Amino acid sequence: MPGMRGSVGPGTMFTRRHNRGYYLHPDRPLLFSRPPVPVVIHVQGSIFVAHATLIDGKARAAELSASITESAAELFETHGVRPGLAVVSVGDDPASKIYTRNKKRTAETCGFYSVQHALAADSSQETVLALLTELNADPAIHGILVQLPLPDHLDEQLITQSVAPEKDVDGFHFQNIGKLTAGQTEDAFVPCTPAGCMLMIEDQLGKDFSGLNAVIIGRSNIVGKPMASLLLKANATVTITHSRTSDLPGVCRNADILVAAVGRPNMVKGEWIKPGAIVIDVGINRIQVSEGGETKTKLTGDVDFDEVSKVAGAITPVPGGVGPMTIAMLMANTLASARRVANISELTGESSEDRERRKFSDDLAQT
Ligand code: NAD
Repeated sequence: MPGMRGSVGPGTMFTRRHNRGYYLHPDRPLLFSRPPVPVVIHVQGSIFVAHATLIDGKARAAELSASITESAAELFETHGVRPGLAVVSVGDDPASKIYTRNKKRTAETCGFYSVQHALAADSSQETVLALLTELNADPAIHGILVQLPLPDHLDEQLITQSVAPEKDVDGFHFQNIGKLTAGQTEDAFVPCTPAGCMLMIEDQLGKDFSGLNAVIIGRSNIVGKPMASLLLKANATVTITHSRTSDLPGVCRNADILVAAVGRPNMVKGEWIKPGAIVIDVGINRIQVSEGGETKTKLTGDVDFDEVSKVAGAITPVPGGVGPMTIAMLMANTLASARRVANISELTGESSEDRERRKFSDDLAQT
């Protein structure tokens, strides 16, 4: 019920992170997050009175892109390597055109070398595969992205599996999927949308979700399944739901973390939400609305923002939530790929030679 925040049991701990409010403490599952103080928030020109913290994906993505830009400049200065991203699209799908243009633009803003190959809708499979062979062999390109969906006459699986796994910044190659499923994310490319969702959840909860229930709505290879692997790796107890799940609202009510990736406008209602839960809305749906006698279209998510923001502890808006984070994570993956080529450890910035040397002297010091 709006305004009701669940019970606070003995030993409840609130943690305050980044001044974004109070959140579930990872060691204290089942206890809700922030106090019931309504706030006024603005999303897409509308005003909502909500209790949830608004997770600002646009601002977070800008922060991330700024640090990627800095790291890319440093990589170029120290190793002469400029991260290179190739975006391949086939056909005239208007949404795909906007997505590919945004990706190219962001890559340029980050200081990357960026190329876009927009092939005609009737391009043959051989043409697309020949282009991928060329890009796989091009040392200036560290990341290759094939914009989906592809026209029906093309074999989507064959094409995504023809991107070299070490340049597969979308994380769709079976080699990268296998590594992620095995929990070996250090040298795998994780699909950008779930990777971005994960970062936003970590901002709220820290990195360990022990004792927390995570529910994902949707079992796609692009979002639902990789999201489950990431949440599982962070020790959440994970449930994947889909179109054949019975009592979906009941399953969702058990979620401390709820990720909706369905493609059905405003499907998730306030009464589905456990008070204080973190709600990540991946859905992008274009709907028609009438405003002042005029019919307009607007973007909306899978979550009924008006209802859910009154119950949840934190929530992403649509637009301005998961979408910008997806593009930022694509840049992060491309930078990581370029750093691997330059033989630099992603975490420390050390080259593998330096790392071996340091390990050797550490070992010596301990003898
Ligand atoms: P998909 O069509 O591949 O998968 C949808 C999933 O929803 C399926 O697993 C299906 O079983 C499930 N589903 C359908 N109806 C359901 C119902 N009534 N109850 C429960 N589950 C149901 O879609 P996708 O590629 O995973 O994308 C999902 C949504 O996320 C879409 O709106 C898409 O546009 C959006 N998306 C956004 C981003 C982003 O960057 N923000 C990235 C990828 C996808």
